[in-house]
Amino acid sequence: MSAEILTGKTLAAEIRASVSHEAAQLIDHGVTPCLAVVIATEDETANFYVKHIISAAEKTSVLAHIEQLSPTATKEELTAKIMNLAADNNVHGIILQTPLPTGVIADDLRTLIPPEKDVDGANPLSAGRLLCGIKAFAPSTAAAVMNILQRHEIALKGARVVIIGRSLVVGKPLAHLMLAADATVTICHSKTRDLAIVAQEADILVVAIGRPNYITAEYVKQGAIVIDVGTNVQPDGSLVGDIDSNSIQTIAKAYTPVPGGVGPVTTALLLKQTIEATKQT
Ligand code: NAP
Repeated sequence: MSAEILTGKTLAAEIRASVSHEAAQLIDHGVTPCLAVVIATEDETANFYVKHIISAAEKTSVLAHIEQLSPTATKEELTAKIMNLAADNNVHGIILQTPLPTGVIADDLRTLIPPEKDVDGANPLSAGRLLCGIKAFAPSTAAAVMNILQRHEIALKGARVVIIGRSLVVGKPLAHLMLAADATVTICHSKTRDLAIVAQEADILVVAIGRPNYITAEYVKQGAIVIDVGTNVQPDGSLVGDIDSNSIQTIAKAYTPVPGGVGPVTTALLLKQTIEATKQT
């Protein structure tokens, strides 16, 4: 029997519909929700991601605009851009897209995004609040994984969750969200010994490593739920995940596809978080 496909498209459309509704109400009150995306790279995956944010916003009444800087932009230029956006009352959400130009340290800039505009949970203050269980914007990809599981009524309480990938945008914040939902969480990374054996313990396996089709059947327990966060742009422009979906078909109970899984929910949630940020102003 083939695994069920946990699409994110329907959920994303529902979130966008609610965003459109709320945005229209805010506009009626004279405030247009606005998201600014700062990017200074020619990296294909980063530009792919930003393009999707803009096209998702176009399906709602949220104004989203790209603040494009040169791939050779300096720390000072990026600092000035973010500080201007931080001070601009017409901008409610700010995203700083990585990778950054060589020599520019992301943490030096993330701290400049005010927590109330930090709709992708990039500021260490937001991360710390999340860790402490205090209200904060979570990185939208981590939030998307939680939303997909909730939407498909996949129980987390007591579940054994293994997350492969420990980045600040996915693995680490997701582990906090999973813990808060009473899951038992293991985080793996490139130095994890016997990765396949650890991964096979998972009732829910989440993979965010950025390696096309890397995770095969040998990593998956029979009947597991597999969430593929990976978005890898191939030379022909197509997109593949970190999971080899053919390989896990008869082992997994269900899995998220790439494209059409975590990605669209992530961008829809960024818009939702922009609405929340707008309401807080
Ligand atoms: P990242 O910062 O490069 O982190 C990758 C993580 O994977 C690191 O923790 C790394 O371990 C681990 N890793 C790499 N190779 C591994 C291996 N062979 N075995 C075990 N662990 C391995 O990447 P990221 O920003 O988290 O992104 C991960 C993937 O998710 C990418 O494909 C990215 O495009 C995608 N993504 C998708 C969305 C979305 O909305 N769908 C959003 C963000 C990212 P170390 O820490 O030891 O180096």
